[in-house]
Amino acid sequence: MRIVTGGIAQETNTFQWQPTTLADFERLGFGGVARGAEILALEGTGTVYGGAVAEARRLGVELVPTTYGGVMPGGRVARAAYDALAEEILTGVRAALPVDGVLLVLHGAMALADADDAEGPLLAAVREIVGPGVPIVAPLDLHTNLSDEMVAVADGLVGYKEYPHVDMPQTGAAALRMLVATIRGEIRPAMAFARLPLIVPNQAMVTTWQSPLKDAIDRARELEREPGVVAATVLGGFPFADVPFAGVSTIVVTDGDTALARRSADELAAICWAQRDDFAVRPTPIGEAIAAAMAAPAGSVHVLADIADSGASGTAGDGTAILRGLIEAGARSAAVAQIMDAEAVAACAAAGVGSEISLTVGGKHDGLHGPPLSVTGRVRLIHEGSFPLAGPMGAGTMASRGRTAVLEIGGPGGIELQLTELRGHPHDLNYFRAFGIEPTERRILVLKSAAHFRAAFEPIATRVVEVDAPGISSPKLTGFAYERLRRPIYPLDAEAWWERETKP
Ligand SMILES: [Zn+2]
Repeated sequence: MRIVTGGIAQETNTFQWQPTTLADFERLGFGGVARGAEILALEGTGTVYGGAVAEARRLGVELVPTTYGGVMPGGRVARAAYDALAEEILTGVRAALPVDGVLLVLHGAMALADADDAEGPLLAAVREIVGPGVPIVAPLDLHTNLSDEMVAVADGLVGYKEYPHVDMPQTGAAALRMLVATIRGEIRPAMAFARLPLIVPNQAMVTTWQSPLKDAIDRARELEREPGVVAATVLGGFPFADVPFAGVSTIVVTDGDTALARRSADELAAICWAQRDDFAVRPTPIGEAIAAAMAAPAGSVHVLADIADSGASGTAGDGTAILRGLIEAGARSAAVAQIMDAEAVAACAAAGVGSEISLTVGGKHDGLHGPPLSVTGRVRLIHEGSFPLAGPMGAGTMASRGRTAVLEIGGPGGIELQLTELRGHPHDLNYFRAFGIEPTERRILVLKSAAHFRAAFEPIATRVVEVDAPGISSPKLTGFAYERLRRPIYPLDAEAWWERETKP
């Protein structure tokens, strides 16, 4: 049995003006394009391929790798970048023929400069090559904005059930198993989906606590244990995408039972719809969060999550509002990961380690995350920027934010500010440890992360606080100027109505 595989994975924040380029995909540790055997070498890592490659080996099937490009979330993907990667994948699929199946690894919320849906057309292009008789299965991110075309073209879709996404390997393995069972004729996938008129903030999708989305995901796990159900998925969607089909959706794959798939997809959607008011997130004012952290007993670790400027939601990560609050409050034992500012990094490097320097940091990318802030500090470290991830998410892979400077504000024991050349996604303890900062020994950790940080930081945190700062990943969705999103939609339009709901 031969299964050809490849894919493109990016999550698009359409409120980010800066396009995502091929150079971004190719940048090691920020993105990364794996080709041929490099895909198979991902076996065992905390990634989708980490599980899919291992499962293929276990089942004794041959995986024929093409190209897989993944990159940090960001702005719409440049057409040239998509075309180049897609062409590599399609050429690889053609060269691999004849094949028994296709495993296409996608994110599910990628938009192009000139197209709201990237995944549907990619699936369709693969279908055109392999024909109608060869099954195509795709694993998806929980933040997928599901398009009609994706469902129409794929034979099977299955999404992550955890946020933070600690189950990427399990999802890759599940997709591979579904594909192999289909090829062997053990199952005949029948798929149905439901899309709610509902967008919800990321924080209400977290599964480390009983979030509104988790209630539906728990039911999906139960459904998967019932006879005839192959996979049940609840997708929270990605709300910072101004595309017509953004939002919460569900997908159920059964063994040949279309009615069961339809009924189950609707049941999962109904659980979310019934709780639509509970998805609202009310972040804590900056001053309140800092004061509580400073008043906490010695040894406390307060994580202040800058959820509105989350690199993993495609923001620049150069917001200054919380740093300003720390300085004004005279905070001590605080570490900030991070502020993207290549100019500031260059200034620190030019001054040299040990130098005292005054400069403005952050707020330069789009002016939506607080204005540039004047600071004075001592340059403590210049680092080339790449380091291994300890996990649980992405364990065994490398991260990079480009050259990084640590600036110490307020003297020893004050505020340790990381300045980086590239956007970052501080979801791993090594985002501090690699730069000589021990996170368990700091009173305040500021993380520009929506929720992924929880996997590594909840275990060391006394308290996690979602802070109310400005930005293009803010949970206050009514503040976004949507133009392409379908309407009416909740919570933007109170009159939004799900057509499958039985009217009272
Ligand atoms: Zn995601």
